[in-house]
Amino acid sequence: MSRINDIYGTMVFNDAVMKARLPEETYTQLRRSMDEGSRLSQEDAEIIASAMKDWAIEKGVTHFTHWFQPMTNITAEKHDSFLVPDGNGGVIMEFSGSELIHGEPDASSFPSGGLRATFEARGYTAWDPTSYAFIKDGVLCIPTAFCAYGGQALDKKIPLLRSMQALNRQGLRLMKLLGRNDIRSIKVNVGAEQEYFLIDEEMYSKRKDLLYTGRTLFGAKPPKGQELDDHYSGAIKPRVQEFMTELDEELWKLGVLAKTEHNEAAPAQHEIAPYFTSVNIAADHNQIIMELMQRIARKHHLVCLLHEKPFAGVNGSGKHNNWSISTDSGLNLLEPGETPQENAQFLLMLCAVLQAVDNYQDLLRMSVSSAGNDLRLGGNEAPPAVISVFLGDQLTEILKAIENDESYAPGEKEIFKVGVHVLPKFPKDSTDRNRTSPFAFTGNKFEFRMPGSSASISGCNVVLNTAVAESFSQFSDYLEASEKPVQEAIRDLIKKCISEHSKITFNGNGYGKEWQKEAGARGLLNLPSLADCAPCYLDPKNADLFSRHRIYTPEELNARYLIKLESYCKVIRIEALTMLDMVWKDIFPAASSYSTFLTESAYKKNNAGFEVNSSFEQAVASGISKILSAAFSIAGVLEKNLKEAEKITDPLKAACHYRDYVLSAMNDLRTEADELENCVSAEYWPYPSYGDILFSVN
Ligand code: ADP
Ligand code: MG
Repeated sequence: MSRINDIYGTMVFNDAVMKARLPEETYTQLRRSMDEGSRLSQEDAEIIASAMKDWAIEKGVTHFTHWFQPMTNITAEKHDSFLVPDGNGGVIMEFSGSELIHGEPDASSFPSGGLRATFEARGYTAWDPTSYAFIKDGVLCIPTAFCAYGGQALDKKIPLLRSMQALNRQGLRLMKLLGRNDIRSIKVNVGAEQEYFLIDEEMYSKRKDLLYTGRTLFGAKPPKGQELDDHYSGAIKPRVQEFMTELDEELWKLGVLAKTEHNEAAPAQHEIAPYFTSVNIAADHNQIIMELMQRIARKHHLVCLLHEKPFAGVNGSGKHNNWSISTDSGLNLLEPGETPQENAQFLLMLCAVLQAVDNYQDLLRMSVSSAGNDLRLGGNEAPPAVISVFLGDQLTEILKAIENDESYAPGEKEIFKVGVHVLPKFPKDSTDRNRTSPFAFTGNKFEFRMPGSSASISGCNVVLNTAVAESFSQFSDYLEASEKPVQEAIRDLIKKCISEHSKITFNGNGYGKEWQKEAGARGLLNLPSLADCAPCYLDPKNADLFSRHRIYTPEELNARYLIKLESYCKVIRIEALTMLDMVWKDIFPAASSYSTFLTESAYKKNNAGFEVNSSFEQAVASGISKILSAAFSIAGVLEKNLKEAEKITDPLKAACHYRDYVLSAMNDLRTEADELENCVSAEYWPYPSYGDILFSVN
């Protein structure tokens, strides 16, 4: 353990380093800026920049970068050195306050959804003092926000920071009404569990589909998959262990508290979970985790697949976004308390989340939608595309009792009264029973299980924070307008909220067809693909929500709508083109050669006057020919459908065309090709099989 202490946070310009290296006054100002969002003066910025530079140089650093998160799922950086001429033919190392605070990366190639007209191609980066600077690969990385000349958010960080402010603003307002004048700020905490696959580099390099698209587009089911459940939390293989050890150490140096690692359900699938922290930092850390996982895997001749569904028929990868809210004194507002007073507050928080999820199912679903994640959510695995909230039996019964003015414990006469009863502690969900729920209450936090493994966690947290801020705001309106004593008003509010929104709660099995039916009857949304949920961006109810809480202007929202649709179409297009390349160049020729070989063998056998007939060769060759001709005609359909897609200019119509015509032809083509794989000899088949890939790492 001492080793951890030696390395933990050594590459982070964190609070301890700042405290030690900054003059007291500057440190106090910076803390105020971090905690309360006050603006830093130029003088303080100069002092901080200089201290940051000295610290970095002592660690051998010569370059710095503004590290930002454009509207893709990865981070961007442009390196500049500290070097400036000293006027005497030499150089000195300098880093000014304005270099720390502002940057102007050449940003014309990042998606802007029309926010940045080409004549103003520049984007601007601005230091986010609430997230610590760190050294990665010998470069000082300064976490920054990225915006256009007019201040429009071009990234994932600005909306997240805005949503944290909205939740703080509305949360404090509500807390004041509850008499909690002691609370100074409310913050959101997130712990994001990350799933991924690790496969052998050699297998990876032999698959064009993995190389170009991050997932396999073909592949017959192997004889053994995950049915034995022998991978889940099983012994970690030595090569994987070496990778995990190095990953942990590198993450610890960067102050990312990687805590748990284990194998996941599918063969070659694993998970890493850091300890939870403030959502803004959690989002930065998750980006760092994804980047380091991919880089460190390569050092071990492994490839880390972050795609949501790299293998059909095998569990996909997600991210579990564990979400809670706490006060400045560290009190978790989702923790049921010890006193009736605290419980009323807890129930109100719970109701706020229920209402938020129910009213903004569409936005939440949209926030986790992508061509990759749709393969997971729309498919036959957890979680389903329908959003519901798992509360567990105990809490569900309590809510029911409140709604119906009944007693909670069976046999008890007294009715359950908010603000009078102490709630029992809820056991933390540690069992298997609710693994299918997309949004589960797990004792003192909510676990949103729908985000995809490759996505930034910012998008879903922006929606969650904003929707909960809206609940808080409506609750405050209600309490302010009520003429009853506050405890009674709270009770009425909780009752009203339960009866309006308990339709979103569901404790059963989310996999089943029955649930889809029931969810439909309850009026819950079932949006299987991005093309189905994208229109929610245009819904005035949602545009109003974002404007009201100052998260996205209508223009910023429209940009996100366009970027999401564009990227959906592009991803499917690249996949379709890769498929066509694979069938034309490799799969069809391989199947054809094998069938020629069989035909020739049959011919030779017959000519040699063998007594045994050549029924095997003939049957297989003719089977292959049949499948080949079917596949050949589907490839033609896919090409035609792709050409048609090019002509569609409306982005939503294009996405619908990709969903209905391109994806379906891709599925058909895959069915035939997988059938071929089952008939063609391994010697002729051009790619490593699923079995080869999934069981390649020892
Ligand atoms: P599991 O889901 O496997 O039962 P844990 O309880 O260990 O796991 O939590 C999973 C993740 O949730 C971890 O990242 C953990 O830090 C995070 N977490 C725990 N408590 C909270 C909380 N109050 N708020 C946000 N995240 C939390
Ligand atoms: Mg979990």
